[in-house]
Amino acid sequence: MAFDPEILAREFTILKTLSSKGGFHYLDNAAMSQVPDSVIKAMVEHETMRRSNVKRGIHRLAEAATEAFDKARLQAARYLGVNDADEVIFTSGTTAGINILALSFGQDLKQDDEILLSELEHHSNIIPWQMLKQRRGVSIRYLPVTDDGRLDLDRAEDLITTKTRLVAVSHGSNVTGAITDVISLASLAHSKGAKLMLDGAQVAPHGPLDLPEIDADFYVFSGHKVYGPTGIGVLWGRMDLLEKLPPALGGGEMIHEVTIKYSSFQDPPHRFEAGTPPVTQAIGMGTALEWLSRQDLPGIHNHLTELTERIMEGLNNIDNGKSRIRILGPEPGKPRLPLVSFAVRDIHPHDICQFLNDRHGVALRGGYHCAQPLHDLWNLDGSTRASLAAFNQEIDVEAFLNGMEDCMKVLS
Ligand code: PMP
Repeated sequence: MAFDPEILAREFTILKTLSSKGGFHYLDNAAMSQVPDSVIKAMVEHETMRRSNVKRGIHRLAEAATEAFDKARLQAARYLGVNDADEVIFTSGTTAGINILALSFGQDLKQDDEILLSELEHHSNIIPWQMLKQRRGVSIRYLPVTDDGRLDLDRAEDLITTKTRLVAVSHGSNVTGAITDVISLASLAHSKGAKLMLDGAQVAPHGPLDLPEIDADFYVFSGHKVYGPTGIGVLWGRMDLLEKLPPALGGGEMIHEVTIKYSSFQDPPHRFEAGTPPVTQAIGMGTALEWLSRQDLPGIHNHLTELTERIMEGLNNIDNGKSRIRILGPEPGKPRLPLVSFAVRDIHPHDICQFLNDRHGVALRGGYHCAQPLHDLWNLDGSTRASLAAFNQEIDVEAFLNGMEDCMKVLS
C-alpha cells in the first residue's frame, strides 16, 4: 500500500487539534517537528510509573528508570547503525553535542592545528570552534559553498592538510537543503589524518543511518527534530576516540573516584554526561527513533520529494520569470532535503512569515536560520524557509503556494 500521510497525521494529536481550529499548515519542521502520540505516551508512562533518578539508586523505581534509560541508548545506537551503545552520549541537543566535542577534543589542540568548517554551517557549528580558537589559538578554515548551495568538495583536497585535526560540517544544510557527500569527505579527511564530525541535525530526521558505512568519527543530532522531545540529543563518537578524550563538563555521575586533590573519570559515555541526565527526554527520543524506523521510509521519501518539487515548481510559477524569487540550494530534480529556502526581492522574510501566518494559517521560518555567514556570502538579508515532515500533505503545500501568490500581490 502506498504511503498515506493522512493516516500518519492521525497519530499526532496536535495536528488534529490545529485542524479542528480552522486549519493550520505546519511547515517549520526543520526547526522542530511535531511529536506522535506514542512518544508522548511513553514519556507520560515513564513519569507516572518509573520516575526516579538513574544510575545510582538501589531501589525498584531507580532500577526500572535506569533500565528504560539504557534502552533509550540502545535505541539511539540502533538508529545510528552502531553496535556499541556506549558510543552514544546523551546531550541536550546538537548545539550541546558540538560544544562538548569542542571542549573535549579541543583541549589538546595547539596553535598550528586546523579545524575545517564550511561557509554554510549553522552557528552552532561555528561559534564553539571560534571559542576554541580564542582558548587554544587553533586556525579555522572554511570550505566554500557552490552557487547551488552545496559544499564545494573539489576544494576539500586543498583545504584539508596534514595540519587539519578535524573536519566539522553539516551532513545536510538547514538553509539550502543540500546533502553532503559524506563518504568521500570521510575518506579524504582520513587520508590526511583528520577526523570527521558531521552535524546531522537535518539528516537524522529522515531515517536510520549507517555510521560505519559513512566512516564518520563523530555525529550529532537533536531529539526535537526527529519527532522526539526537546532538551535531548546525541553526540556519537567512535569508542577508540572517546576513550582517549578528556571530559568536557565536570560533576556527579561522570567520575570514578573523587578526592580533595585528584579525581578520575568513568569510561565513555558516562565521562561525558555530568549530572542528572534528561531521562524522560531520552526515553521519548528513543521511542521516537524506533517509531520512525518502523515507518515506510521509502514511501515517505517519495512523498516528501514530490511535495518539495511541487514547492519549487509553484514558487517558480508565481515568479513567472521575473527573477524576484530566488530559490536557494540545488536545482529541481537534484537531491535535497525536504526543505526550500527562498529570498524575495524587496520583501523581508519576517513580513512573508507574518503574512502567511496571519492570512493563510501557514507556519514558515524567516531570517538567517542561524546561518548568517551563508546569507552574507550571498548578500541576502535572510531567507524564508518551508520545511516538511512525513505528516505534511498536498493541502499544506497548496496553502503555502496560495499564500505566497497573495503575499507577492499584496506586499509588492
Ligand atoms: N545544525 C543544524 C544544521 C540545525 O538545523 C540546527 C537546528 N536548527 C542545529 C545545528 C542546532 O540544533 P539545536 O538547536 O537543536 O541544538
